[in-house]
Amino acid sequence: MSLFGRVKHQGRELTSRALERHLRLGVTGLSGSGKTAFITSLVHQLTQGDNSGNLPFFDVVQQQRYLGGQLAGQVLAVPRFPLEQNLQYLQQEPPVWPPSTTGWSQLNLQLRYKAGSGVRAHLQSHSELALEIVDYPGEWLLDLPMLTMNYTQWCEFSWQLFSKAHRAETAQPFKQLLQGADINDGSELYVQQLTDSYKQLLAQFHQTAGAYLNQPGRLLIPGELAGAPMLQLFPLLPEQASQNTALAAKLTQHYNSYCKHVIKPFYQRYFSTLDRQVILVDCLSALNAGHAAVTELQQALQLILQSFHYGPSSLLRRLFKPRISRVLFAASKADHVTPEQHKSLTLLLQQLLQQPLKNSQYQAATTEAMAIAAIRASASGFVQVDGLAQPCLSGTAADQKKLNYFPGEVPATVPPQAVFERHKFTFLPLQPLPWHGTSALPHIRMDHVLQFILGDKLR
Ligand code: GDP
Repeated sequence: MSLFGRVKHQGRELTSRALERHLRLGVTGLSGSGKTAFITSLVHQLTQGDNSGNLPFFDVVQQQRYLGGQLAGQVLAVPRFPLEQNLQYLQQEPPVWPPSTTGWSQLNLQLRYKAGSGVRAHLQSHSELALEIVDYPGEWLLDLPMLTMNYTQWCEFSWQLFSKAHRAETAQPFKQLLQGADINDGSELYVQQLTDSYKQLLAQFHQTAGAYLNQPGRLLIPGELAGAPMLQLFPLLPEQASQNTALAAKLTQHYNSYCKHVIKPFYQRYFSTLDRQVILVDCLSALNAGHAAVTELQQALQLILQSFHYGPSSLLRRLFKPRISRVLFAASKADHVTPEQHKSLTLLLQQLLQQPLKNSQYQAATTEAMAIAAIRASASGFVQVDGLAQPCLSGTAADQKKLNYFPGEVPATVPPQAVFERHKFTFLPLQPLPWHGTSALPHIRMDHVLQFILGDKLR
């Protein structure tokens, strides 16, 4: 290549690099909320399902400017999201849901598109957007409020929570263990033994329908911190926590170092690098689990929301410079209900978030709420009942039985306790639809999701 050619070529490369943009998208939600299914579907829609019939509300695809997405390399030290394995699970006969990821993982994509207008449309044949998708447990966001409490306050908070109807019985053996504990023993071995018992309790809560708020999040899902000393932590009974004893002193020390060496670095190193965030919420399972569960989900969401409040005096602003500009709250598994219920599901989610999503005075970020199914597992239709068309769903139950049913109505507001006493919500889990890997994964509103999180970056 001539010198002129080389300079021109390099010039083109530089222009392309200068114009290349990055976006780091965080995907979170409490365990079971649908993160694994969501990321699997999102990536598949961007790499294989990019036709306008499949993504009608994703402008760049609809306007035929999308040139495709490809998986891109990533730093080896970062755990990679197991996309290929997940797609294999969905292609099995019968298909099964991929196992949930635990901890932090990432997948990088390179998206190509034609710019619609502006400088790039003239300078380049195509533009690129590097999309980094970061999956992490929502449980870790539940740790943030621990920064605003001291150890004694945290013990009070925890034991208040453990006294709730759906937790009290499970917590009883650990309570008894603490009542008989030697508070003058602050030895490593003893603290570890009691922590092991608390860890078991947390694991039991984790399996209890509607017990969402489990702290410290890293004791339950340690990620890369498994075995770290500050994870020797549990809440003493409030009357024990306030006493000046060896055990309380040791735990206070661990609590403080958990805040300093686990919670703060998570926000500073990881959370602060995210540009956009999707938060998945499984409202339907909470309704199935009853009133206490819905109340606790609401409480957990309030705590999670604190991570997106960047008011001038907010805790987070003191820790780092927030840059998350868009937050999507998605009520997941909307395919468990008939389509005319989606509006109520979205309203219910908004009520659980307890705030008008737009124009919150503290939010620098634009927020949106919608009901979605990352991987649709049902087909919706109508049946004639007494001459009237009634909406219904068909799908496959966990035991492989074929179902054709009306799953029930979704309340548009949080129902009072009396409603749960009269009526049991039963939104059934479904197996994925058969899928052979060649077509786009069926979904509900993933195109709306893509438009909200990427639309403005692909103009
Ligand atoms: P994670 O723990 O947040 O990663 O949640 P998963 O993505 O593993 O989802 C947990 C379970 O919820 C799955 O095994 C499925 O049973 C169900 N699920 C997740 N997404 C969907 C969806 O879009 N539709 C349906 N019907 N079920 C879903």
